[in-house]
Amino acid sequence: MSHDPIAESVQSLLSSRDPDAASILAAEAKRQETTLELIASENHVSAPVMHAMGTCLTNKYAEGYPGARYYGGCVHHDDAERLAQDRAKKLFGCKFANVQPHSGASANAAAFLALLSPGDTFASLVLADGGHLTHGLKVNMSGKWFNPVHYPLHYDESHPEFERIDYDEAERVCLEHRPKLIMCGYSAYPRVIDFERFRAIADKCDALLMADIAHIAGLVATGEHPSPFPHAHVVTTTTHKTLRGPRGGLILTNDEDLSKKLNRALFPGLQGGPLMHVILSKAVAFGEALKPAFKSYQKRTKANARALANALIERGYRITSGGTDNHLMLVDLRTRDAELTGADAETWLESAGIITNKNGIPQDPRPPRVTSGLRLGTPALTTRGLKEADMGVVAGFFDRVLASKGDAAECEKVRGEVAAMCEKFAMPG
Ligand SMILES: *Cc1c(COP(=O)(O)O)cnc(C)c1O
Repeated sequence: MSHDPIAESVQSLLSSRDPDAASILAAEAKRQETTLELIASENHVSAPVMHAMGTCLTNKYAEGYPGARYYGGCVHHDDAERLAQDRAKKLFGCKFANVQPHSGASANAAAFLALLSPGDTFASLVLADGGHLTHGLKVNMSGKWFNPVHYPLHYDESHPEFERIDYDEAERVCLEHRPKLIMCGYSAYPRVIDFERFRAIADKCDALLMADIAHIAGLVATGEHPSPFPHAHVVTTTTHKTLRGPRGGLILTNDEDLSKKLNRALFPGLQGGPLMHVILSKAVAFGEALKPAFKSYQKRTKANARALANALIERGYRITSGGTDNHLMLVDLRTRDAELTGADAETWLESAGIITNKNGIPQDPRPPRVTSGLRLGTPALTTRGLKEADMGVVAGFFDRVLASKGDAAECEKVRGEVAAMCEKFAMPG
């Protein structure tokens, strides 16, 4: 087990001052330590990133931006925000960064507020095939107040680009509907995104290009996935997925006019006071991401994803598009067992200490609450130090649970072996 004296002192402080909160925190720490985290959008932050959040910067109102605040006493907050901005710009190689979004959804909402008017048309991937709810879901603001049109993947099994983006069709959809904004970047897409091609499409229909790199930000920051710059006009991301920072969002651009619009849209358009303790933690995370070790971490994450995909293919599972270029994969469970659903698989695996999420596969015939697939990712396991050879062991656990159809005795047995494996891989310090 990792030894984090600050986490221990927080635990003991809460034990004496608020035992109810203390027992919840202790239980969650134990859950994370004793399970294998395969959710592609999660990670384990370092102790400095974790504890920068638990600081006195939370006490301050700092509405506005560095040098232009609506409250006194912000001098150190200005320094913290500038540090985060400067590191973000360096990391992604761009001119302007807004580090204030509370989340990826807030970053996207600010971009919509800055770039579109209600009723305007924008284009995004068919949501059920890998998009995010902020890219036009009917119950989300993006789908309620704006007009999404969607571009598809290749759905013809015999096509060499099967289950990859159909760029020609994306161009056709955009030329037909003339969106003001084209979105690329996804939540469940295992392949490289061709930002240059999307920019060419955007230029043909006078649209702006927005890349939402929430999932691949860590890969992009280290050159392990092509950069959306200089192609995208606006880039949004989360900071807590492959980027391994605190939970939050980030908006980037090279265009000065757009940066002013985006800043005004975020504050005062959308948010009030920034979460300055989280912004300090973002600065710390960006500092870590600028170090050489972070690039090797991203390389290992990708290598682990490939190894896990191959180990699952060997056991009879189909991986959509035939594999992965990044940190995640979509497993089509039906090739292993036609009756198997994502919902059952997620529940059974959790009882064995393997944490995943059900996810629709492209053109999934089952509804989103059931699904035929699971989305798996390797960022968190790689942070804990698992290597390619360990992916075969993980795939073995995975298959035993699903082959047993969630048999309680077998899940319990795997649960014990998972916990034993976890003891060898400490949380990051
Ligand atoms: C995760 C994600 C988001 C939203 O991030 P939150 O911090 O959960 O609001 C936005 N876009 C994409 C593509 C994502 O994967």
